[in-house]
Amino acid sequence: MIMLPSNPTDFIYLICRLMLSVFAVAAAVNAVHYAHQDKPVYHRHLRVARIGAFLLGIAATMSCVDAMDNVFLRANEQTPLSSWLWLFCFDLLLPIYAFLLVRAWRQRDQAELELARLVVTDLLTGTLNRRGFFERAIGSIGQARRAGQIVSVAMLDIDHFKGINDQSGHAAGDEVLQRFAATVALELRPGDVFGRLGGDEFAVLLPGDTDDIALQTAERLRARVRAEVANPTGNAPTTVSAGVTSLLEGIEPEPALVTALCTADSALYAAKQAGRNRALLAPSAIPPR
Ligand code: GH3
Ligand code: MG
Repeated sequence: MIMLPSNPTDFIYLICRLMLSVFAVAAAVNAVHYAHQDKPVYHRHLRVARIGAFLLGIAATMSCVDAMDNVFLRANEQTPLSSWLWLFCFDLLLPIYAFLLVRAWRQRDQAELELARLVVTDLLTGTLNRRGFFERAIGSIGQARRAGQIVSVAMLDIDHFKGINDQSGHAAGDEVLQRFAATVALELRPGDVFGRLGGDEFAVLLPGDTDDIALQTAERLRARVRAEVANPTGNAPTTVSAGVTSLLEGIEPEPALVTALCTADSALYAAKQAGRNRALLAPSAIPPR
């Protein structure tokens, strides 16, 4: 027959154990939340979190049943020391450990994501770096081709940038690079891919644009840079030259991109030779549609 506990210590024991069962359930919910919503980088973590949540649920249930057994069915017996030890060593520490483990995984996931972002980001301008540009551009070319779209590319290079460094200092040159990147980014569409290939040379991939549309975009970029990026030397406006071309079809995205960048670079060189502050179109290998 069920009897109520005869002493207050047993009541405290019962309440502690029930509270810690709730704590274990909270830890299990936290682990399930991690496994389902936070998209952990490590799939092994995801599995362990699910199994851990399941085990914590079982532990919480068993703990409740055991507490009832200790306190009600053996109400006239003193709660043994071993039950108190179990309470503190298992019921309390297990959910704490689970919470700490999930928190450590979350921190590690965040660090991994940040590291992955840094690997593809140019630290000075915040745009994609060369690696990031190639990775994103190759993915984008694949997507555009599946949608039957042409892809174009523009190479941009700031005019007389060495002069800015020489006359106004490297820090002023850095600032021009940052303003330049911010200005170009404002003009582009969300699907365009923009990156710094090195020094004062940048590239833009324009999915869905034929070469003449891409030339218009490059021209808009050139005009906006001239109007909005101040030249610290005060001698002349900051200008940029651009070379534009379309990607060849029928070859893999990566060689198509490399070839197009080379072709666009030749057009950029021609733009420099022709007096800078202009965008030129390279001859396209794509027959008109
Ligand atoms: P051009 O019109 O022919 O392009 O002439 P330019 O003076 O711009 O020549 P170039 O493009 O070859 O010059 C690039 C310069 O950019 C050389 C290098 O010292 C400078 N540079 C490269 N990386 C950085 C950087 O991160 N910060 C600064 N401030 N300067 C850089
Ligand atoms: Mg330059």
